[in-house]
Amino acid sequence: MQVAPTTEQLLEIHGRIRACVACRLHVTRTQAVPGYGPVGARIMAVGEAPGEKEDQQGRPFVGAAGKLLTELVESIGLTRRDLYITNTVRCRPPGNRDPEPDEVTACSHFLDEQIALLRPDVILILGRHALLRLLPDSAGISRLHGERVVRHERTYVPLYHPAAALYNGSLRETLFADMGRVRAYLDEAETLRAPRSQPSEPVSADQLSLFAL
Ligand code: URA
Repeated sequence: MQVAPTTEQLLEIHGRIRACVACRLHVTRTQAVPGYGPVGARIMAVGEAPGEKEDQQGRPFVGAAGKLLTELVESIGLTRRDLYITNTVRCRPPGNRDPEPDEVTACSHFLDEQIALLRPDVILILGRHALLRLLPDSAGISRLHGERVVRHERTYVPLYHPAAALYNGSLRETLFADMGRVRAYLDEAETLRAPRSQPSEPVSADQLSLFAL
């Protein structure tokens, strides 16, 4: 039986991300945005990079794209509290430019660590930057969106980035349809998942939630 991860382990990774100076993005950030959500989340969503609001608030997907992400999650009967959300890079690229490949590489091990710790049932890949980072040899997002891709015992579902669908009605429809498929993938994963034992150390009150970060 696998041991459940603890909030302390996740917060330890968050602390290292906040202190990270491995790439040039640390110079212009207000603060790093490590990720947000409970350590027991069965779904992880990986976006591109923090924008202006995220940089100010220290949380991912708090702007308009975040609002759409919330609607998507709620459309399959879940809430944002069922998700752990993070990004390919954790510091805002100046002017919201695309992250550079060396910035993605410098941030890469943090994402690997978060995935290895949380072992989510499904990883939602939001947009082409996250797709390139997580499934570099795959087809593009326009081919793969809504498909379940299993690699090295992890289950990924590439989706169009919510920001791309904000002002595009047909993309928005596609995104909701793809999200409907995610519900079925989750239900299947739930039945296959090995039970987890409780964390070995006692859980303190402030460990119970990550939502006060
Ligand atoms: N906010 C994020 O945190 N990531 C994105 O990719 C877009 C908006």
